[in-house]
Amino acid sequence: MSRFLSSRNAGMDPYTPGEQPQNRKYIKLNTNESPFPPSPKAVEMASRQAESYQLYSDPNCTDLVKQGAEFFGVNTDEVLFTNGSDEILDFAFRAFCSEDFPAYFPDITYGFYTVFSRIHRLPFREIPLTEDFEIDLNDYRGLKGMVVIANPNAPTGIAKSRAELEAFIAEDPERLVVVDEAYIDFGGETCVPLIKKYDNLIVTQTFSKSRSMAGARLGMGFACAELIADMNAIKFSANPYNVNRATMAAGIGALQDVEYFEACCSEICRVREWFAGELKALGFSVLPSSANFVFAKSSRFGGNDLYLQLKERGILVRHFETDRLRDWNRITIGSREQMEILVNTLKEMGA
Ligand code: PMP
Repeated sequence: MSRFLSSRNAGMDPYTPGEQPQNRKYIKLNTNESPFPPSPKAVEMASRQAESYQLYSDPNCTDLVKQGAEFFGVNTDEVLFTNGSDEILDFAFRAFCSEDFPAYFPDITYGFYTVFSRIHRLPFREIPLTEDFEIDLNDYRGLKGMVVIANPNAPTGIAKSRAELEAFIAEDPERLVVVDEAYIDFGGETCVPLIKKYDNLIVTQTFSKSRSMAGARLGMGFACAELIADMNAIKFSANPYNVNRATMAAGIGALQDVEYFEACCSEICRVREWFAGELKALGFSVLPSSANFVFAKSSRFGGNDLYLQLKERGILVRHFETDRLRDWNRITIGSREQMEILVNTLKEMGA
């Protein structure tokens, strides 16, 4: 820490991303990336943009907003594109939370929610998951503030139904609900259509997983026009050019290539079901996943041990060394070939 760091930031507790090793080629199943390249249409449209890099990108993302509104069935003032969905989540914390309006989220969920709360010095409370790693929305009854629910949740992969979430959103119009749908395309039920009915709902999604664009950084939020306008004001106060030219073009291409998107998602789901079955046959406990990863516990290896032994053998999975999670590992669903190598490696290890 330098002697100039403001005392406001002294308590920073930055997010720890999954390893991105540059020194060795791993089978990388640790950060929920897609094993497939982006749609060829996205790549082609992005490549052409480099020729215009002397110009700023469109701060209103006009063409992308039009394409996105059409694809998701919302109005153009009901969607906002950002630099990854991390950024729209950050905007929501900044725009809506305060001393009188805390953030509430599960104790086991996406780690960035606590990071946003801390960096913006916002009050927050973590609500424990049930014994079965489920979110019990009854535990959030009567709380005034912004409730953030990842659906499906991470790192568990467990999804809630739209009906259950709708009942929760409808129950208290003074509570703001953020549904983080980073993994929704792998089997969950999206809440995007509900933004037409409820003005206390924000739904966020990302191009990082189901559209194979983690490296391009593109995310989005859906909400009523007023909520979107508030978050847009934060964007224009922070970085109006948050979505670069190539990414914007890639986003349009990816949205247009519905066939490719659907093929990638259904292949991931197929491989996930096969892989979960193989793990169970090896004696693992596996939580029911609606995401592009599974959360699994070996009956023979501790979580950290398994993580280290797999790493030594060239396979990276994600381990969280916390009380309730240390026996488990989160394993991204890669290609069928990658998952076969993993299953064979586990067998060789006697896992
Ligand atoms: N939400 C959840 C639940 C996630 O796991 C992630 C990715 N790690 C994100 C949001 C953010 O993803 P991105 O910024 O790449 O859109």
